[in-house]
Amino acid sequence: MTFPIYLDYNATTPVDPRVLERMLPFFTRHYGNASSKGHAFGWAAAEGVKQAREEVAAAMGADPSEIVFTGGATESINLAIKGIAAAYRSKGRHIVTVQTEHSAVLEACKALEQDGWSITRLSVGADGLVRLEDIEAAITEETVLVSVMWANNETGVLQPITAIGEVVHRRGALFLTDATQAFGKIPISVDVVDVMACTAHKLYGPKGVGALYIRRRQPRVRVVPQIDGGGQEDGLRAGTLNTPGIVGFGSAAAVAMAGMEAEAARLGALRDVLESRLVEVLPGVRVNGAGAPRLAHVSNLTFPGVRSANLVAELRDLALSTGSACSSGTGNPSHVLKAMGLSDEAAYATLRISLGRFTTPEEVEHAASRMISVVSRLQKPSHVTI
Ligand code: PLP
Repeated sequence: MTFPIYLDYNATTPVDPRVLERMLPFFTRHYGNASSKGHAFGWAAAEGVKQAREEVAAAMGADPSEIVFTGGATESINLAIKGIAAAYRSKGRHIVTVQTEHSAVLEACKALEQDGWSITRLSVGADGLVRLEDIEAAITEETVLVSVMWANNETGVLQPITAIGEVVHRRGALFLTDATQAFGKIPISVDVVDVMACTAHKLYGPKGVGALYIRRRQPRVRVVPQIDGGGQEDGLRAGTLNTPGIVGFGSAAAVAMAGMEAEAARLGALRDVLESRLVEVLPGVRVNGAGAPRLAHVSNLTFPGVRSANLVAELRDLALSTGSACSSGTGNPSHVLKAMGLSDEAAYATLRISLGRFTTPEEVEHAASRMISVVSRLQKPSHVTI
C-alpha cells in the first residue's frame, strides 16, 4: 500500500496508463492542428479527433456529429444553458432545475436570472431524489429547458433520467442532463435527453477536456455559441482543438465501456464492506442517499458529533473529501446535504468517500479501521444521535 490512500475519485481520477499511452504521440509526433487541412500533421491530428469523437459518441449511444468537444463539463454546461437560452428566448424565459445540482448548473442559471430569466429550483426528498410530479407541475408554456443531473457528485444518488425525460418532452421543453459523474460508470444513453454534459477527468482521462452532446434530430436542438472565433466544432466551440486531451477522452471512454459492469460490481462490493463496517461499529452513522439508487463507488457518511474537517485533518493517510471538490473551499455546509434535509451540524459532520479503478480491498480495510479509531476518539458521546 502507498500512502495517502486516494479515496476521492469523484473529485478527479488519475489518467489510466492505457489512456496516457494513446495520448503521448499527439504531444510529440502528431502535433499538427486538427484544422490544418493541407498536410499530414493536420490529417493525423484530425484522425485522432475523429476516432475519439466516435468513441465518446458510442459510449452514450449518440452520433459522432452530435458531440462538441469543450474544455470540461463546466464549459459544456454553460454552453448548453446559456446557448439554449439565447436560441429559444422567444419561446419563454423559464428554466427548471434542482437544488442539488452542481454549481456549474446553479451558477449558469443564476447568471440568466440576473438577465431576467425565471428559474425554478426544485427540492428533493430525504433520499436526494427529485419527484416527477414536481417536475411536471413546474413546467409551463414558457419553460425552455429542464436541467437534472444524472448522478450526484456528493452522494452518488441517481435521478430517474428516463422517466424525467419522458415528462419533460411530454410537456414540450428541452432536457439537459449533467452526466459528469455517471458517464463511464453506469450505462447511459441519450435516448431521452436533448443535451448532455460530461468530462474526461472523472473517468481516468485528462483534465481540461469535456463534451456536450447536442441532439441533431427529432428535434434538432439549437445552441448559440458562447465563444466566438475560428468556427471549430461546427461553429459551436471556437478555438484550436486540444488534440491530446480529446484523444485521451476517447480512449478513456472506450476503456471505461469495456470494463464497466465488472468494475461497478467490484467497487459496489468494496463500498458495501466499508459502509457496513462503519455502521456496525460506530454509533449513529448515517449513509446519505442510501434510500435511493446510487453509484456503486460513492459513500456519503454522517458521523454525528464529529466535525468532518477535523476528521480529514486527523486522517492524513487517507485522501477524503468533506464535500464536493468545487465547494469544499467555501466553508459553507453542502447545499446538496441541506437540500436533503440535513441540519448544518449534520452537514458539517459528513464525509464523502469515492472509490475507483485503483482501489484495493486492503486500502478499504485500512480506511475503515482508521476511520473507526479516529471517529471513536473524536465523537462526543452526547451527540451520537441526530
Ligand atoms: N458536474 C458535476 C456533477 C461534477 O462533479 C463536476 C466536477 O466536479 C462538474 C460538473 C464540473 O466538471 P469540470 O471539472 O470538467 O468542469
